[in-house]
Amino acid sequence: MKRAVVIVAIAWFVVLGTGAAEYAHNAQHAREDANSSPRSSRRDSSTPVHNDSNCAVHAQLHQPLTAMPVVMLLICAGLLVAFVSQLAPAPDSVRIPSRIDCRGPPALV
Ligand SMILES: [Zn+2]
Repeated sequence: MKRAVVIVAIAWFVVLGTGAAEYAHNAQHAREDANSSPRSSRRDSSTPVHNDSNCAVHAQLHQPLTAMPVVMLLICAGLLVAFVSQLAPAPDSVRIPSRIDCRGPPALV
């Protein structure tokens, strides 16, 4: 189930990033305009113009994925914490002891 969600998300971002979603939506508008007016070959001033102000899908396609820089900062901080928590601790074989019992006090020269 998790892989299906990831595959769908990757497919959506590919479609959105390549512009295929906007192309398909513009084609849908063109079909609707062609069906509404019988003289579709001539483009006159009565042909509706679709943009972000009059179409919710256009507005959603053009909005940024991250609305605020604070969100990007929080994501980067979370990635840093995840990266640091994944660092492996030093193994015991290379650990430096804080005190060596077999040695005597330092010699005076
Ligand atoms: Zn639209």
